[in-house]
Amino acid sequence: MAKVAFLGLGVMGYPMAGHLKAKGGHEVTVYNRTASKADAWVKQFGGKSAPTPKAAAQGQDFVMCCVGNDDDLRQVTLGKDGAFGIMTEGQVFVDHTTASAEIARELYDAAKKGGFDFVDAPVSGGQAGAENGVLTVMCGGDEAVFNKAKPVIDAYARACNLMGAPGSGQLAKMCNQICIAGVVQGLSEALHFAKKANLDVEKLIATISKGAAQSWQMENRYKTMVAGKFDHGFAVDWMRKDLSICLGEARKNGASLPVTALVDQFYAEVQKMGGKRWDTSALLARLERQ
Ligand code: NAP
Repeated sequence: MAKVAFLGLGVMGYPMAGHLKAKGGHEVTVYNRTASKADAWVKQFGGKSAPTPKAAAQGQDFVMCCVGNDDDLRQVTLGKDGAFGIMTEGQVFVDHTTASAEIARELYDAAKKGGFDFVDAPVSGGQAGAENGVLTVMCGGDEAVFNKAKPVIDAYARACNLMGAPGSGQLAKMCNQICIAGVVQGLSEALHFAKKANLDVEKLIATISKGAAQSWQMENRYKTMVAGKFDHGFAVDWMRKDLSICLGEARKNGASLPVTALVDQFYAEVQKMGGKRWDTSALLARLERQ
């Protein structure tokens, strides 16, 4: 059993940290910017809480993190009370934030300079994946460090693989988001078309989900989409953050992402419709607006 800190008890981090304690049996210390969430977590799971990332990281074997974006990540690592200010040899920082490959490489280098290790490890599987402990984790970093961290990550993962050099976990997550953007728009268009064509949507999905059109989005989202329910799931604001990371990386590596760029603009329209916190499947609402 290891000594583990978890920074960031949001929709994802809260249940992930819970699995480290309840399933992994680790000694867990949590930090959350809004302290009341850390208090609630300790009440529910029984670990300890710390007032700053730095205090949480002290003396741990692993420091896991899941905050919002690059700036948030920079703050909890390199900021005034950041974890990197106290971390030292033998410790491993595992970052589950969806962030840029650039910051992953920057933090890997900063960790190396401090004599400790860094793994970028963004996740896929959403809130349900975090709550059920069945996330997919895409890692970048050194193999020996990955092998050390994997048994700890396994407390909330169904699949956890090393994709390559530092930043590769974030690059893999970008591929994941590129896939989702195109798939959700395709599914939205199909459902929109089915309604216009007066097809029985239940029969349609029961049939085509057994063929080549099948997808996670189809299986898990068609019912709420058809019902016009979007107040749940993975927020459009988060998706735009992720797509902006993908498009920024593509500008650097020369990849052509025309559909991703277009869908990003569709999401900008969903935001203007008031859908900043709606699920990504709200692309259907954009097609159906009056
Ligand atoms: P969330 O519910 O908004 O939680 C964000 C967490 O980060 C909160 O604990 C927040 O603290 C903390 N935080 C943000 N900025 C901070 C800062 N500057 N300093 C300290 N703490 C800060 O977000 P989430 O849904 O858990 O997502 C977290 C990450 O996972 C994001 O990168 C997201 O893209 C990624 N992700 C999310 C999903 C999903 O379905 N939600 C799926 C895959 C990946 P407070 O409580 O004080 O606000």
